[in-house]
Amino acid sequence: MAHTLLLLFVICGLTSTVGPTVEPDEMLLQPAGEGQLSLDPSEVAAAAVDFGGVARAEPLAVMRPGGAGDVAHLVRAAYRSARWFPVSARGHGHSTNGQALASGGVVVQMSRGRIAPRPMPAYSPSTGEYYVDVWGGDLWVDVLNWTLANGGLAPKSWTDYLYLSVGGTLSNAGVSGQAFHHGPQISNVYELDVVTGKGELTTCSEEQNSELFHGVLGGLGQFGIITRARIALETAPHRVRWIRVLYSDFAAFTRDQELLVSLHGAHRSERFDYVEGFVIVDEGLINNWRSSFFSPKNPVKMSSVHANAGLLYCLEMTKNYDDSAADSIDEVGLR
Ligand SMILES: Cc1cc2nc3c(=O)[nH]c(=O)nc-3n(C[C@H](O)[C@H](O)[C@H](O)COP(=O)(O)OP(=O)(O)OC[C@H]3O[C@@H](n4cnc5c(N)ncnc54)[C@H](O)[C@@H]3O)c2cc1C
Repeated sequence: MAHTLLLLFVICGLTSTVGPTVEPDEMLLQPAGEGQLSLDPSEVAAAAVDFGGVARAEPLAVMRPGGAGDVAHLVRAAYRSARWFPVSARGHGHSTNGQALASGGVVVQMSRGRIAPRPMPAYSPSTGEYYVDVWGGDLWVDVLNWTLANGGLAPKSWTDYLYLSVGGTLSNAGVSGQAFHHGPQISNVYELDVVTGKGELTTCSEEQNSELFHGVLGGLGQFGIITRARIALETAPHRVRWIRVLYSDFAAFTRDQELLVSLHGAHRSERFDYVEGFVIVDEGLINNWRSSFFSPKNPVKMSSVHANAGLLYCLEMTKNYDDSAADSIDEVGLR
C-alpha cells in the first residue's frame, strides 16, 4: 500500500488531498543530462497556475528536461527518496482543473525542454503507413509544420486548437472533427516511450508492454510521462472545401450530424473528412451572434435564421481534395 501511494504521488501530484510534502533535496534533482532545474521565482510562478487561472499550487522547482533521461532521473529520485514529493508533467498548461500542477514538488516543463532534433517522417512496410517520432512535449502545430515540410504529410487525427502538446492530449483523448473516422488522437499512436512511476524508461505499444500503452493513452498523466510518441501520418490534402450549415431546429441538426458521422466506414469520395457540430449563443445584442467561426460580416445573415431561445446550431464539415478535383468538388454527393 505504501508503495502504491508513493507511485501515485510520484506521477500525479495530488499532494493536498493526502498530506504535507517535504522539500526534496535540490542536488538530488539536478538533471543528469542537459536539462535544467530552475528555482527562478518567475518560472515557478508560471508553473503554479493553469489555463483556467482558477487552480493554483506552487511547485518547489521547475525542470526543463534535456531528454527522456532527465525525466527518468527525476522520477527515479522521487521514487527512491525517503521524503516523497510530487512530480507532474506539464505540456502547454492548457488543462483547466490543475491537472499539471505539483504542489511543493517538481513540474516538468515538457514543452520547454532542450531536445534533440526531430527525426524525419518514415514509412513502415509492415503497416503500409507513414509515421513520425516526436518528443512528448512537442506542440501539435510544430509536428504538423515538420511533417508538411518533410514529405507533405500530416497527422491523421487532430484537436481543433494546435497549440497543445502531444503528451498533454494523448493523456486525455485528443478530439476533433476527424475522430468520427480515424478515432481520437489516442487511437492514432503506434508506440510510446514512457517514464514509469519507478523512473524506468519503457517502450510500449499494442504488442509490447500493452497494459502500460493502454494505461498511458487517455490515462490523465497518472501512469507515466510520455517522452516519445510514434504518430500515424497520412498525405496532407492540397485543398479543403469548408462548409458550415446553420440550423434553428435541434432535432434536424442532430439527425444530419448523426447521418454524416455514420458514414465513417465509407469510401473517401462518399464522406466528409471532418465533421463537427456546435452551438452558437445569441449574447443579447441585436444582430450580434458571436462566434469565432463567423466573420463580423455574417451577423445579419445569421439573424435571418429563426432561432429558438437565442440558440442556433452549426454543422461544420470539410472535404479534402487535390488540384485535379478542383472543378468537380462541388458535385461530390453522399449516398
Ligand atoms: C483553448 C483550448 C482549446 C482546446 N481544444 C481542444 C480540442 O480541440 N480537442 C481536445 O481534445 N482538447 C482540447 N482542449 C483540451 C486539451 O486537449 C487538454 O486540456 C490537454 O490536456 C491540454 O494539453 P496541454 O499540452 O496543455 O497539457 P497540460 O495541461 O500541460 O497537461 C494536461 C494533463 O496531461 C498530463 N501531461 C502533460 N504532458 C504529459 C506527458 N508528456 N506525459 C504524460 N502526461 C502528460 C499533465 O500532467 C496533465 O495531467 C483545449 C483546451 C484549451 C485551453
